Amino acid sequence: MAEHRDNLIAWLRDAHAMEQQAEQMLKAQAARIEHYPKLKDRIEQHLDETLGQQKLIEGCLARYDTKPSVTKDALGKVMAFGQAIGGSVNSDEVIKGAIAGYVFENLEIATYTTLRAAALAGGDSEIVRVVDEILPQEQAMAEWLLNHLPELTDDFLALDATPHVEAKR
Ligand code: MG
Ligand code: FE
Repeated sequence: MAEHRDNLIAWLRDAHAMEQQAEQMLKAQAARIEHYPKLKDRIEQHLDETLGQQKLIEGCLARYDTKPSVTKDALGKVMAFGQAIGGSVNSDEVIKGAIAGYVFENLEIATYTTLRAAALAGGDSEIVRVVDEILPQEQAMAEWLLNHLPELTDDFLALDATPHVEAKR
């Protein structure tokens, strides 16, 4: 059996590893995008938010005298790297990236929803406060990606029909 505290720490570490993965993915995407400035701007904005989220989670872990899990964080980075590389071989890279981003934001929403419930159950109101700061950022990013997919698809199709343009990025 495990105490509430152990589960809370484990889930904080999972959240931190997830944010490391988010950072790598967002950086890789922003660096490759050329023809979609609106998407690039939004990704860079969320990258800033993601770095802030990492700090907030680190603060929560520090209150339990713990640090992020080095192995989990490293694993996340390798996975994000693989995804970024995998993305670049797709002829519709920018579309696949936006879809993957939407899926990832929803993973984050579900992860923080779990963490919030665990924090409530464990009586840690500071974690609840932190999650309430982070969750709206993930929800806004998920919503933005979904709402802009039609426009992004139209732009991609138009560019893809243009000679000598690499529509995928
Ligand atoms: Mg995040
Ligand atoms: Fe996010």
